[in-house]
Amino acid sequence: MKILVPVKRVVDHNVKIRVKADGSGVDLSNAKMSMNPFDEIAVEQAIRMKEAGDASEVIVVSVGPAQAQDVLRTALAMGADRAILVEAEGRVEPLAVAKILQCVAQTEEAGLVVLGKQAIDDDCNQTGQMLAALLGWSQATFASRIELAGGRALVTREIDGGLQRIEVTLPAVVTADLRLNEPRYASLPNIMKAKKKPLVQQTAGELGVDIAPRLTVVRVEEPASRATGIKVASVAELVDRLRTEAAVI
Ligand code: AMP
Repeated sequence: MKILVPVKRVVDHNVKIRVKADGSGVDLSNAKMSMNPFDEIAVEQAIRMKEAGDASEVIVVSVGPAQAQDVLRTALAMGADRAILVEAEGRVEPLAVAKILQCVAQTEEAGLVVLGKQAIDDDCNQTGQMLAALLGWSQATFASRIELAGGRALVTREIDGGLQRIEVTLPAVVTADLRLNEPRYASLPNIMKAKKKPLVQQTAGELGVDIAPRLTVVRVEEPASRATGIKVASVAELVDRLRTEAAVI
């Protein structure tokens, strides 16, 4: 079984982002870019499945600019077998990404697609669900554990009320949550080896997918700054302040 792992190049999670002065978006000039953290978890999971003998090949795919090769090389250094870059400039909305992934999953005859639960730049949390719908495959989102057996995946999902266990038939789309695993670091020898692993480039046009945006960004703003908090000495003082100053009780 082939496992497909979509990885997105996003602004690094340690970067303090700035909104552009004209409010048209986030200023990414000179910002460090990295693989979306949930996608690292997805890559790690796919590699573990291959190591356990449940998968024959791990293919990573990214939709983005030429620089997205970096995150693909990182995934190859972690242990993925080969990579596909679908070149696209600018913002590509989840529906367009899902349509591209649908083409790739079908062409590659993947048995499982493991995505991140969300990309930390736009926080959309849509691509996996849209992909499952387009493919007509089972889906299990927010996975914190995945066990494969007999053409099925037993998935533990993180939901608001706790943990939910569901069984889905393969082929399936699974999205990775934070507690699924702890991704490995790529060793230096593996980083060197990854340079020689296959990475093919395609365009959305070649796949016949229209990536023209359907949404318009009206305005991007910094969240309102909040007043600094204070420490109170006792519960009595807290209650008093909530009553007299905040007037909420
Ligand atoms: P989102 O729906 O944008 O929050 O993204 C959810 C997941 O879809 C991500 O964690 C990735 O696994 C995948 N994904 C989203 N955008 C891309 C992209 N441009 N290239 C590759 N994978 C993507």
